[in-house]
Amino acid sequence: MASPAGDRLPPIIMADYARIDSGLNQGTPYLCMLCGIDRLSNWDGLTADAVRARKAAWTDRLVGAVDAAFPGFAGLVVQHEMATPATMHAVLNTPGGAVYGFAPETLVRSPRTAVPGLYLASAWAAAGGFTGAMIGGASAARAALRN
Ligand SMILES: Cc1cc2nc3c(=O)[nH]c(=O)nc-3n(C[C@H](O)[C@H](O)[C@H](O)COP(=O)(O)OP(=O)(O)OC[C@H]3O[C@@H](n4cnc5c(N)ncnc54)[C@H](O)[C@@H]3O)c2cc1C
Repeated sequence: MASPAGDRLPPIIMADYARIDSGLNQGTPYLCMLCGIDRLSNWDGLTADAVRARKAAWTDRLVGAVDAAFPGFAGLVVQHEMATPATMHAVLNTPGGAVYGFAPETLVRSPRTAVPGLYLASAWAAAGGFTGAMIGGASAARAALRN
């Protein structure tokens, strides 16, 4: 995501929220998300205008890529937003702009801390993502109840 120039595209996942019972797509406009891999350093040190221009260029390329797979898609887009690792870092305060928690380099994670009675929940305390956040919350609650 450092530069939208050239032909190369990062791998992207498209989620059509109309396909699951998310409650997000009750009527038009329908929500659709493209998700890919990026680094905070790709967006560091840019002026606001440069960020806007790069987001616009990437949006054109990504929507174009989806349109190539699903002809007609681009013409149906009525509004678009792009969030970067810098957005995640600014809004969620996550290290490096990550959204799935810390790198899963160990399988031994515990909600317990060095402070008696203080337990950690979230995707940052167990495994990443929604599932990790739910598992982290459940194991913190179990540990607290055991005490
Ligand atoms: C666009 C997008 C799509 C995603 N899709 C999926 C998916 O399909 N499947 C999946 O499993 N995961 C997905 N994820 C990841 C998932 O959303 C997160 O991993 C999960 O929500 C993390 O939950 P959490 O409770 O650990 O942290 P968060 O939901 O980040 O909650 C932490 C909260 O703490 C607040 N906070 C931070 N610092 C402070 C502070 N100093 N003081 C007070 N409050 C603070 C933040 O503002 C935030 O509200 C997606 C994420 C994004 C951004």
